Amino acid sequence: DPAVMWFRRDLRLADNPALVSASEAGPVLPLFVLDPALWGPSGVSRRWYLTESLRSLDASLRRRRTSLSVVRGKPERQVVLAAQAVDATRVFVAEDFGPYGRERDERVEEALDAAGIELVRVGSPYAVAPGTVVNGSGKNYQVFTPFSRAWADIGWEEPCAAPTGGSWLELDSTVEIPTVDLPDGLEPPAAGEAAAAQRWADFVDADVTDYDDERDRPDHDRTSRMSTHLKYGEIHPRTILADLAGSGGKGRTTYRTEIAWREFYADVLFRRPDSARDYYKPEFARMSYASPGDDFDAWREGRTGFPIVDAGMRQLAASGWMHNRLRMITASFLVKDLHVEWQHGARHFLGLLADGDLASNNHGWQWVAGSGTDASPYFRIFNPTTQGKKFDPRGDYIRRWVPELADVADPHDPSPDDRDRVDYPHPLVDHKAERQEALDRYAEIKQ
Ligand code: FAD
Repeated sequence: DPAVMWFRRDLRLADNPALVSASEAGPVLPLFVLDPALWGPSGVSRRWYLTESLRSLDASLRRRRTSLSVVRGKPERQVVLAAQAVDATRVFVAEDFGPYGRERDERVEEALDAAGIELVRVGSPYAVAPGTVVNGSGKNYQVFTPFSRAWADIGWEEPCAAPTGGSWLELDSTVEIPTVDLPDGLEPPAAGEAAAAQRWADFVDADVTDYDDERDRPDHDRTSRMSTHLKYGEIHPRTILADLAGSGGKGRTTYRTEIAWREFYADVLFRRPDSARDYYKPEFARMSYASPGDDFDAWREGRTGFPIVDAGMRQLAASGWMHNRLRMITASFLVKDLHVEWQHGARHFLGLLADGDLASNNHGWQWVAGSGTDASPYFRIFNPTTQGKKFDPRGDYIRRWVPELADVADPHDPSPDDRDRVDYPHPLVDHKAERQEALDRYAEIKQ
């Protein structure tokens, strides 16, 4: 029977079990639904990236003499109409475990059911589907390390090839993939399955061996940059894990652990969908916070007067990506030096990051805020200046993103005269005092 392959966060042909199952069922309609509920709140980086990724998927399908049928509207209506248009009896998807995706899929399933069509879930964007890893008493893990051990013990399937042969279907009535203009100066990352495979191969060749030493050095910029490819499913983590298996080495082991963090946060969000917005540890809701005002604007715009913080925030604005160490430093500054709730920062990040992912972002923020699962202890408060000196020792990263500091004597802590000379702001706050303030606020909720 004809089948629909409804692409969502799996914009690839290779190693795509849902697509393989669809093509075993019969001729396949490759479908994408532009869902206003997801498109509306997406920032320009994500919109741009999604449309480029869709164009790339469409080009791959055209090489197979078909195309991606793109429609726009509520999925519970559009998916049913598309399936009916090609007389499909089944719609194949990779299961979505996010709060919105789950609820949407229930709606779609109901609507398909009413039309006598089945929604078939095959695989997910994770090596081990969220909700699978449980401890001896059948409960989920709250802490990363035991989770990651149990996760590795469960293991994952071998990657599968793209379907060969088979036949394809197209819709008569479709919409164009929208064109999104990137604001001037925003670096366009390469999107699509081929770009993801190339980037991954280059990283394995050149950088994975030293990954454990290099991953914390924003000045060296040698992380894999796979996050956006993973976010859109241009490559599956299973493919990555298969390439890392076999040979050991610290770099590979550490890289695998990072993939496990991605899976852990997806699992946590699946178990506690409310933690996308609310404090994972509810007592943090009782803490007193500052409302976001001028300080928050200075943070967003990279004008806090703390060079490493400003460099990170400017990298985010200019490129739609930020190095992990900087995500931690800038998030910590907002929450613990400016006392603004993490949700404001998380929303700002999601608006700009091309890899913006609800689970990794919001739980990354909760980790920094001390309110998340397995969070760093609250009293361990980053000192932005010493963090900068440690991870960007020569100040190269700062100079790249805060060019006015290029020739000052100490880019980590410019003298007041240097700041005035190059028109760089004086520190927005006194870190030592704000550190104490953060600890006092924390002591109040601990009573
Ligand atoms: P690499 O160092 O090459 O890591 C490889 C892969 O491992 C990444 O692509 C990612 O999939 C995964 N990974 C690495 N670190 C983490 C982590 N701490 N948590 C979850 N997965 C991880 N990652 C996102 O993908 N989307 C986000 O929206 C996001 N927001 C974050 C917000 C904050 C406050 C923090 C502290 C971290 C956030 N991260 C997020 C995690 C991490 O910063 C990025 O995955 C990483 O910087 C992406 O660059 P890379 O692919 O070069 O990373």
